[in-house]
Amino acid sequence: MADCLFCRIVAGEIPAKVLKRSPEALAFADIDPKAPVHVLIIPTRHIPAARDAKGSDGEGLLGGLLAFAAEIASELGLDAGGYRIVTNTGKNAGQSVDHLHFHLLGGRKMTWPPG
Ligand code: AMP
Repeated sequence: MADCLFCRIVAGEIPAKVLKRSPEALAFADIDPKAPVHVLIIPTRHIPAARDAKGSDGEGLLGGLLAFAAEIASELGLDAGGYRIVTNTGKNAGQSVDHLHFHLLGGRKMTWPPG
């Protein structure tokens, strides 16, 4: 989508520190990190949020993104200490970019519940 920030990162029109890519997914460093490790994992095709990933196609996509995020966590050495994967969906969750993304956060102790 032409006016979507993350689609523009996928297209290489906006620079990002890319950690890993596949035909379906892209992982890059969050520009405003909330933990020592803060990576965003997005689908390369435009899907606004988790609530839009429906049916078996959506299941496959969400599962693939989660597995991709877990792989990156392993590669970054986060398995032993643990990490958090979260996706904000809509206004109440504070979603600020309307292109589905998982946050992978690690490298520090986190509290629960989130604010
Ligand atoms: P959310 O608030 O869950 O929608 O998350 C959006 C995330 O995108 C935030 O953590 C932002 O810091 C991050 N972000 C916004 N613009 C960029 C960018 N150009 N490159 C990398 N991360 C970004």
